[in-house]
Amino acid sequence: MRTPTASELLNVWERALDAPAVARGLWLLRLTDEAQGEDAWLGLSLGDRDARLLRLHAKLFGHVLQGVATCPACQSTVELLLDGEALQLAPTEPAVTEHVLELHPAGRDMAIRFRPVNCADLLALQSCGDVDEARRQLLARCVIDVGGEGSADVAGFSSDVQAELAAAMAAADPQADIQFDCVCPECAHRWQPLFDIATFLWQELHAWALRLLREVDTLARAYHWSESDIVAMSPRRRQAYLEQCAS
Ligand SMILES: [Zn+2]
Repeated sequence: MRTPTASELLNVWERALDAPAVARGLWLLRLTDEAQGEDAWLGLSLGDRDARLLRLHAKLFGHVLQGVATCPACQSTVELLLDGEALQLAPTEPAVTEHVLELHPAGRDMAIRFRPVNCADLLALQSCGDVDEARRQLLARCVIDVGGEGSADVAGFSSDVQAELAAAMAAADPQADIQFDCVCPECAHRWQPLFDIATFLWQELHAWALRLLREVDTLARAYHWSESDIVAMSPRRRQAYLEQCAS
């Protein structure tokens, strides 16, 4: 995985500020492998995308993920310290791109062949405001065909079949559903917070970009260097000049 330059990251941050989270994650990943074509990026399963975003986070900000969550029992703010390496599951070799869910609704045999959710699915559904409709559309996009006595039309699936299919799709791509236990230090409540590495990485990048622009502001005022020259410096050298300015 290629490490993007500060200038590239700053450009993506500026362009993607108003974009949805799924597009932001893809724009960042494109910087890590410029040889990969657009179709390959769109076809990335969410688990593969998240594994890459975890690796990118480690390259840019280290493998410790520091955040906060709200305890659902007492509403306390709980600090989270996660090890990004521990959140990465071993990839299956070779990658499994199709799965079959065998069901027996009302005594009938049904075999649903499906693929994992990918980035193109999320981009296509991001403007769908209705959660149930988005779920139906997602299932329809991911079902390849239905064997046995089942109808291939997802809208014709019973709600039980839809729920089983959704569960099977989540189980087939565990890296896309990062789960960890959290214990509230105030009330000892135990729960599993929702964690999305795409959102988390973007928040870190946003804070980094604002910090970098403040540094550019300070150094440009003091030395009259251009933004591109200051951004191109190593963080260590920039820090040394900032200390000169402060002394
Ligand atoms: Zn609590």
